[in-house]
Amino acid sequence: MTARITTVHTLDVRFPTSRELDGSDAMNPDPDYSAAYVVVSTDDPDGHEGHGFAFTIGRGNEVQTAAIETIGSMLVGRPLDTTLEALGPLWIELVHDSQLRWLGPEKGVIHMAISAVVNALWDLRAKRAGLPLWQLLAGLTPEEIVDLVDFRYLTDALTRDEALAILRAAEPGRAEREATLRAQGYPGYTTTPGWLGYDDEKLRRLCREAVADGFTQIKLKVGADLDDDLRRMRIARETVGPDIRIAVDANQRWDVGAAIDWVRALTAFDPWWVEEPTSPDDVLGLAAIARGIAPVKVATGEHVANRVVFKQLLQTGALSYLQIDAARVGGVNENVAILLLAAKFGVPVCPHAGGVGLCELVQHLSMFDFIAVSGSMDDRVIEYVDHLHEHFVAPVVVRDGRYLVPTAPGAGAEMRPQTLAAYRFPDGAVWAGEPQRSAL
Ligand SMILES: [Mg+2]
Repeated sequence: MTARITTVHTLDVRFPTSRELDGSDAMNPDPDYSAAYVVVSTDDPDGHEGHGFAFTIGRGNEVQTAAIETIGSMLVGRPLDTTLEALGPLWIELVHDSQLRWLGPEKGVIHMAISAVVNALWDLRAKRAGLPLWQLLAGLTPEEIVDLVDFRYLTDALTRDEALAILRAAEPGRAEREATLRAQGYPGYTTTPGWLGYDDEKLRRLCREAVADGFTQIKLKVGADLDDDLRRMRIARETVGPDIRIAVDANQRWDVGAAIDWVRALTAFDPWWVEEPTSPDDVLGLAAIARGIAPVKVATGEHVANRVVFKQLLQTGALSYLQIDAARVGGVNENVAILLLAAKFGVPVCPHAGGVGLCELVQHLSMFDFIAVSGSMDDRVIEYVDHLHEHFVAPVVVRDGRYLVPTAPGAGAEMRPQTLAAYRFPDGAVWAGEPQRSAL
């Protein structure tokens, strides 16, 4: 009997992070980190489930969950093996659905819903293969990898043949790089010290701890008040010394001119990159900022909607560091396309993570990139925030400032059953008695 996908179940899961101001920045002062969560089940006797989620910050997580329900319903009844073997064509089918496409195309809630479902299918495929996702991806042939990518809208910057050439060039060194990765892990940087809602003493203590923990880069949230930013940058620089990189993140706060002025005002403290200085859609504005603040660099990507906008950011020289997000663009497939674009343009990928579960997901993509795409860890760091990892079946392991290779089969998205029950909104134990924060 052919095994089939039987159910696609969704859950609205929220963490009351706004109570401690964890995650507070200039644009998001009170986030409740949330996951619009999906579980793909089958009637295969092996019992494996695929888990995925879209990350949101609270209100609206019910909208995201409903969109995932809509996308997920398209999978029910499909044969398991052929579906998992053809995730490239499936991605195209979901993204270019003739009616759902009107809700994007390829952006926002509907695209994030595709991300959650596609990532859940990759989780299922990796579990069935008995491999962590990075290893599954890094074991595919160059032809199998390019078959995951939709090259529509990319060919003026990257053709299928060019992508194949990049992957073939990286092929001979794969085994050696995998051994390096297993021995050394992948470099990370920490955002833990820099949330805007923390007082100066907490900032100083967390900066000290970051250096003691082996990180060579930290990040501070900026953009609410220039005098505060100057004071906090001074404290951070005095605490970590001259050799630790300090990135700053404005979370889209400024117009183009204001971004240039503000970053120039901070240059006495040697900021390494400025992240999301303005709207994530403003390709030409970001390019103008990049020119205006050099040698300080622009990093962006966590809110970039899709591979087409990334293509333009690369074509215009608008970013020096490309920040993929594992759960915003259309999942693993589209991130493979973006990694290939970044490799073509020679731009380092430094993923966005934190939130809830984003570290667990995105580490697989950076490790795959190192082994099979760019072939390099130079000047690359994965964001790390020491927060909410205990809710995952296989939490990330970070030692001496580096992500150790995950060994558990799957893509890293699976939360513990106790967490899914306790944090379910609005009726989980954690939320019982809370005033309603959403329109539900
Ligand atoms: Mg950011």
